[in-house]
Amino acid sequence: MDILIIGMGYVGTTTGLVFAQQGHHVTGLDIDQQKIASLQSGNLYFYEPGLQEMLSTHIKNHTITFTCDAEAAIKNHDVIFITVGTPSLNSGKADLTYIKQAAEMIGRYKNEEKIVVIKSTVPIGTTDELEEWIALSSKDTSPVHMTMNPEFLREGNALKDALYPSRIVIGSQSDTAIHKLKELYKDVSSPVLVTSTKAAEMIKYASNAFLATKISFINEMARLCDKAGVPIQDVAKGMGLDERIGSPFLNSGLGYGGSCFPKDVKELIASAEEIGSPLHILQRVEEVNQTQSTYFMSKVKSKFPRLKGKRVAIFGLSFKPNTDDTRESVAFRMLEQFVQEEAKIFVHDPAVNLSTDWVKKGVTQCWDPYITVKEADLLVICTEWPQYTQLDWKRVKGNMGNPYLFDGRNMLIGEEMKKLGFYYRGIGSDCIDH
Ligand code: NAD
Repeated sequence: MDILIIGMGYVGTTTGLVFAQQGHHVTGLDIDQQKIASLQSGNLYFYEPGLQEMLSTHIKNHTITFTCDAEAAIKNHDVIFITVGTPSLNSGKADLTYIKQAAEMIGRYKNEEKIVVIKSTVPIGTTDELEEWIALSSKDTSPVHMTMNPEFLREGNALKDALYPSRIVIGSQSDTAIHKLKELYKDVSSPVLVTSTKAAEMIKYASNAFLATKISFINEMARLCDKAGVPIQDVAKGMGLDERIGSPFLNSGLGYGGSCFPKDVKELIASAEEIGSPLHILQRVEEVNQTQSTYFMSKVKSKFPRLKGKRVAIFGLSFKPNTDDTRESVAFRMLEQFVQEEAKIFVHDPAVNLSTDWVKKGVTQCWDPYITVKEADLLVICTEWPQYTQLDWKRVKGNMGNPYLFDGRNMLIGEEMKKLGFYYRGIGSDCIDH
């Protein structure tokens, strides 16, 4: 199939490359000329394991091309995916500006029957709205077959998730679109669920909201465990063995971040309020998440009431490991608190380049973790990059001025760290080591 994808961000680029890998011809369209120029020259402008190699292969094979020419791209394709961003407005509602722009672009240049597939996460009813926006900006009256096909990939694991999705949800009232999408996904051995467009929209939000709930639930349990002197790791393990619960998303830590959970939880809460069916559980989920970094910071403050002039080393800036995405990363919430306290801050992340704004605030980026901790008074782990577990922690301790280790992701084994001579604090097991 010849497929057009509008929006060459994390989702669009990954989706495009996976379609190319599956034997389709893909055109990637974006309004951002820099991104398109980078992709055209074979350079993935963001970090995602395995994707750079795939990009090089498919550029060489001419199975994927990139363009800013919306008119030609839309005229030449009858299957169009939309993967533009849907960030949060201040109200918590999703900002549909980019979705509307994409719709108007399709309407303007549409010259024949089209299948339009939304992969972006959009509020309930948006697919219907999008159909209207296309119609309003179009002179062409040939049919548009609307479909909502939510994306479930996780950054850091995007390629595997897109190649082997847990499920394929096709929300459409159009038999033509359903048939086409089933054909497109015929070699993928995942369950296919055909629903209404609204159900497909809701499935995406409900799934993210549920995962966020699991995270806030275990984080609140961890706070209780701190007080009760019970190791949260044992509790999570014991819970996770129940197949009705399952072990994923039961790692207590600094809370969820990223470009999806925070905004999707906010959007669902705001929409539900508007519809007149408030989501009380989800409101608390957000509250727990908002306060989790402050809770962790209070552990730091109990040892360092004054941080002014203290050397603070931070490991991890991305919102989770294996990505350079820092959108809504809790690490930056932590960083801001240390900046406010006028600490001397040294950060390490394997993939993230610190912006000049932070450098201007006095934060120093190091590329070697052992140098990052040189003479540090305390080390805070904000992102659980797997390579941190492989470090020579004896050497880390030797390099530090004072061996205070605050593990915001419970990624290290506290007992082992204490044996090495660290003062160690995680989340949810504090009383045990008093
Ligand atoms: P992104 O910000 O990385 O990419 C969006 C891209 O769309 C940008 O490159 C932007 O320049 C482009 N764009 C905006 N308006 C355009 C227009 N009119 N025409 C062409 N291009 C345009 O966003 P993302 O992380 O890829 O997310 C996209 C959508 O997918 C969001 O709705 C998000 O919630 C959803 N989603 C994201 C993930 C994820 O892990 N990132 C996972 C599942 C679903």
